[in-house]
Amino acid sequence: MIRKISATVMSVAAGALVLVGTASANHHELTPAQAKAREIYETVIGMRTAKGHGKVPEMAAYLASELRSAGFAADDMEIIPSGETAAFTLRYRGDGSSDAKPVLFLAHMDVVDAKRDDWEHDPFTLREEDGAFLGRGVADNKYGIVNLTQSFMRLKQEGFVPNRDLILVFTGDEETDMVTTRMMAYDRPDIAEAEFALNSDAGGGAYTKDGVVLPYDMQAAEKTYATFNVTSRNPGGHSSRPRPDNAIYDLARALLEIESFEFPVMANDITRASARAAAADVGGDVGKAMAKFADDPKNKKAIKVLRNNVSSSNMLSTTCVATMLDAGHAENALPQSAMATVNCRIFPGVEIDTVRDMLAEVIDNDALSVEQADERYVSSPASDPRADVNAALSAAITSRYPGAEIVPSMSAGGTDGMHFRRAGIPTFGVSGRFVELGYRASAHGLNERLPVKTFYEGLDHWIILIKTLAGSEQE
Ligand SMILES: [Zn+2]
Repeated sequence: MIRKISATVMSVAAGALVLVGTASANHHELTPAQAKAREIYETVIGMRTAKGHGKVPEMAAYLASELRSAGFAADDMEIIPSGETAAFTLRYRGDGSSDAKPVLFLAHMDVVDAKRDDWEHDPFTLREEDGAFLGRGVADNKYGIVNLTQSFMRLKQEGFVPNRDLILVFTGDEETDMVTTRMMAYDRPDIAEAEFALNSDAGGGAYTKDGVVLPYDMQAAEKTYATFNVTSRNPGGHSSRPRPDNAIYDLARALLEIESFEFPVMANDITRASARAAAADVGGDVGKAMAKFADDPKNKKAIKVLRNNVSSSNMLSTTCVATMLDAGHAENALPQSAMATVNCRIFPGVEIDTVRDMLAEVIDNDALSVEQADERYVSSPASDPRADVNAALSAAITSRYPGAEIVPSMSAGGTDGMHFRRAGIPTFGVSGRFVELGYRASAHGLNERLPVKTFYEGLDHWIILIKTLAGSEQE
């Protein structure tokens, strides 16, 4: 999270954004592997896999047929329907020579919807323009889907036999309900036995306009997300006869208490490491405070500086903020109810109920209720970095960007990773994405883009990761 923020700070300082270089590969000169990856990319971008369009099963079937044509057995893959969507899983069988448990490879097939009229061009037709691929999902997360699918296909076609099983887990509603995510994370014994998971939907590297390679963010934790409804109720009455208690005033007082409350400062190895890595980039008093906080997360002066800076305060603790209001029913009636929506971003490892109880305590008024807006929120722990994953990731990224170091990071949250972490499977966001600092992929937004260069250069990323983690000695 900090790294992302420092990147924003720097891109503002550096002035106008510059799109990453020119396309390294013109599509007339693609290698067969690049051409196949592009073909899959174009096909899946063409499928409107947003909620309500029912296209995810079709996409899963298409990917399954591609994987079958590369030599995978139909028996080793499964499309699991869930309402209008579906999950997909494939087991790449190893020879068992390492005794190691399987590794999961995560991506999601669904996208946030996009309206044709809002975009410059059809969001569901892949375009290549000015060195970028454009279309809904080119970054989030069909880039990951294509990368994993084409890597598994290439390895199979090369005759690669892993020394442990490798399992693809593609979900179908990551952007909305995460029903397929929960199904895969909690209800599948074959997936639960995995040693760890690598997520294509998080993590990534950056370099400056001058070509200086910055530390690579490996997502090892996510803040979890929960929304609470804070409600005050009142018998109400006629507005000509105000009473001493009033639902709107009660709620207003409660919100002011929430505004001034600071959740306790927390730190873990991940937030400390990312604060340390970001300190120099950020510079100034905030940078110094980051370095001090990394050394001693109890340093009061450092905490004060970081608390007062919008870009760094949210890494210190859980945060909750009022985002919507709904109160009263007529202009000439005393309100019978007033409700505020309070959205919280919860520090890894803190339970949702703990946050709810703290809000109730801060409000300190029994007349108000604090309830989860959705019962399905889950909290999720941080994943301790692992030497084997670090070594493999380092091999993959330094093959393209020598000297790039890896920094574990905590992101704002919302990927499938949080459910797998909760299920006890350490999960790391290790996408092959490398872009110029400040590059706007516009994921979820208009005219989503990914540099063409990033796409083609990243095609070996997962191959190197897999061969390092699951190759036999001779590889
Ligand atoms: Zn995503």
